Amino acid sequence: MRIKYVLRIRDEYHIGSGLSRPGVVDETIIRRPDGQLFIPAEYLRGLIRDCCTQILYWTYMEKACCEASLYKAPTEREKQGVPKTCGLNYRINEVPCALCRIFGTTFTKKSYRFSDAEFERFEGSGREPIRISTHNRIDPATGRVPKDLLFTFEMGSPAVFRGYIERIGILIEPNLLLEEVGLLIAGLRLVERVGKRSAKGWGWAQVDEITLSFDDGLEDKLPSQVREAPKDWRMWLKAFLSGGDESGMDSFKS
Ligand SMILES: [Zn+2]
Repeated sequence: MRIKYVLRIRDEYHIGSGLSRPGVVDETIIRRPDGQLFIPAEYLRGLIRDCCTQILYWTYMEKACCEASLYKAPTEREKQGVPKTCGLNYRINEVPCALCRIFGTTFTKKSYRFSDAEFERFEGSGREPIRISTHNRIDPATGRVPKDLLFTFEMGSPAVFRGYIERIGILIEPNLLLEEVGLLIAGLRLVERVGKRSAKGWGWAQVDEITLSFDDGLEDKLPSQVREAPKDWRMWLKAFLSGGDESGMDSFKS
């Protein structure tokens, strides 16, 4: 099963490579050895994971997830004891929680593979595909800009990328698949920024053209509403929220 999507970055963005070109730019944008832009799978995985976690909190469905999957850094509570962790001290003889199944945690194998998002084209005109942007580091103590604290970033112009998320685990029951796919699709739709300094307005983005392909026969067992409107993310979210109960799912009229 594969979820394909289009990522549209609508403003200049910067996802750093961790490299500099001395004398030219302090941090280059990430690209392949041949120069082609892309968005790395691990970056996307983290971004989508954050969005999915937000959805779980919004819908009060985080209660069904283990603590290890929800928190990134140990909280005060975790420091005092072992956090609830699927496969360790939680859901030991049951299927792991949705976050563990999708993204994997220490004791749970992840069952999805995230692809890199491949560059398709730049959008808009009149801009350099890549430009160098200069910034000042402000000294918080004085509020001044010391001269030696100028730094530069490479910025990518608005562009379209394509990626996919593929289920790699063993076959599962339709209601579990619905939970995973519903959460992933809603998470994709929640993406609104990519890259660094997004608070400054960089990297405004949206995911659309979400399409699904099934090759394992599970499609037929999913609620009819999502089968009939496979591109409608709202339907998947609704199916996810109703736990796959078709009777509670009215069609949207758009
Ligand atoms: Zn878990």
